[in-house]
Amino acid sequence: MNACPRCGACCASYSVDFSVCELEDMGGQVPSGLAVEVNHSTCRMRGTDHLPVRCAALTGKIGDTVGCGIYEWRPSPCREFAEGSDACQRARTRHKLPYLD
Ligand code: SF4
Ligand code: SF4
Repeated sequence: MNACPRCGACCASYSVDFSVCELEDMGGQVPSGLAVEVNHSTCRMRGTDHLPVRCAALTGKIGDTVGCGIYEWRPSPCREFAEGSDACQRARTRHKLPYLD
């Protein structure tokens, strides 16, 4: 089962940090305008750098219908984030969404 298209909780729970090498400007794929600088080697998805957290690339309504506006170009933490993981379940709980079996 893929709960993600009707969830989006993780995109509105955590700071999404990744190497500046993943930025389009640096030869990567992530649109540079959607990231903010953390330090010389790390950047963060815009919108996950303040509270309440909500990635600037996230479209739709959490717990209803959501999408990632840069899905094909999203950074590695998003690619590696596993549905059903502890972090996923924590994000869902934070947004009052039911535990995934
Ligand atoms: S919190 Fe879990 S179910 Fe929700 S979008 Fe993220 S990975 Fe998918
Ligand atoms: S880039 Fe896409 S998958 Fe990653 S946090 Fe933002 S909306 Fe979610």
